[in-house]
Amino acid sequence: DAAVKNEVISRARELGAKFIRLQFTDILGVLKNMAITVEQLEKALDGELMFDGSSIHGFTRIEESDMYLRPDPKTFAVFPWRPRDGAVARLMCDIYNPDGTPYAGCPRNTLKRVLAEAAEMGFTMNVGPELEFFLFHVDAEGRPTLRTHDKAGYFDLSPVDLGENARRAMVLTLEEMGFEIEASHHEVAPGQHEIDFKYADALDCADKIVTFKFVVRTIAQRHGLHATFMPKPVFGINGSGMHTNQSLFRGNENAFYDPYAPDGLSDIARYYIGGLMKHARAIAAVTNPTVNSYKRLVPGYEAPVYIAWSGRNRSPLIRIPAKRGMSTRIELRNPDPSCNPYLALAVCLAAGLDGIKNRIEPPAPCDRNIYEMTAAEREELGIGSLPASLEEALRELERDEVIRKALGEDVYAKFVEAKQKEWDNYRIQVHPWEVEEYLSKF
Ligand code: ADP
Ligand code: MG
Ligand code: MG
Ligand code: MG
Ligand code: MG
Repeated sequence: DAAVKNEVISRARELGAKFIRLQFTDILGVLKNMAITVEQLEKALDGELMFDGSSIHGFTRIEESDMYLRPDPKTFAVFPWRPRDGAVARLMCDIYNPDGTPYAGCPRNTLKRVLAEAAEMGFTMNVGPELEFFLFHVDAEGRPTLRTHDKAGYFDLSPVDLGENARRAMVLTLEEMGFEIEASHHEVAPGQHEIDFKYADALDCADKIVTFKFVVRTIAQRHGLHATFMPKPVFGINGSGMHTNQSLFRGNENAFYDPYAPDGLSDIARYYIGGLMKHARAIAAVTNPTVNSYKRLVPGYEAPVYIAWSGRNRSPLIRIPAKRGMSTRIELRNPDPSCNPYLALAVCLAAGLDGIKNRIEPPAPCDRNIYEMTAAEREELGIGSLPASLEEALRELERDEVIRKALGEDVYAKFVEAKQKEWDNYRIQVHPWEVEEYLSKF
């Protein structure tokens, strides 16, 4: 560990980095930064840098406001868009209490705790996310609009596609920061894009998701565009998801793969699916944590609504991609990029592990188009649905001991408090749709 620490210090010196940003997320997944000079780096790496936690969302118990940042040296990365001399680098951090114990309200610690449970059972978790986002124009004052370049293109046939250029720059920047980009493409909706990177160990992947959103927003801005990970910015077209491909490995072997099973899936994989399906309604509060998230989870836009799994079609909650061997994985299709990735992966893993521990058999896979079934047919096949609103999801979370335990009482209480407030604020608003519908009718 001392070797890794020294390597970080010498790399920072070599790069002429003047400032280092110590990064972590609050409970809602918002990235926080504390900038230090390179002279303080050694002290920071020793976990001796203190900050006032009471200013951070969800960290607000006054008596514990003195907290320590413990940077993970493996997360050292340089921001490629900054000038070469006077480079800026970052380190992702865990939050520690003054007594040296991990702070239970830190999302990164939460994921690490559930990963340690998996490790005790002999598993590591691998995750490959597919993040979708929109690129919108900004107005003369620099404020984001809902105008996309694609649409503007009908009127103004400029030879250069701003969005495509920005996405290319994003891919190059991410690659410079150590991402292995597997695919990048325009999505179904105008102005919508997807960039996929290679799967990694869950903790590394959650760090990468946070970095990804930050890089995409930064590069968009430098192209005069606004990138948003809001799940459903525009009614009537597809929203943005974060399909979460996941598998458990035992050492170097994929524990989801069984070459002797007719479908190539191991018992472990099946039980993991069973666990995810059992807890899906509570998990949604974490993987789809905004009022807006539930505007995406509606029929007709490739987003899941029903709790079912299939190897064949793309409409259910869980799809099993055809690849086997090391690529054997399950694709959970409801998460969206407004989630806190540390908490989202923690609850998915906890649900899967619950399935394994209790040998929860999933129902038979459903290869029919569920959207064409009647309510009676769905009921007969035991196909439930995801929550229809943030409030419904919060009530499910309250009832689910396994998912609550995965979050820990600290994160759970603060998360529900913040989200209930968000719901209550929304509930009392008068929506433009209501005005249009009722103003002249009544
Ligand atoms: P889709 O066919 O749904 O569009 P993509 O090809 O866009 O899927 O994304 C697949 C994702 O799954 C990538 O991030 C890839 O690295 C990841 N992946 C591949 N193998 C595994 C695995 N064993 N565990 C977890 N994720 C994996
Ligand atoms: Mg994809
Ligand atoms: Mg693909
Ligand atoms: Mg997609
Ligand atoms: Mg996908």
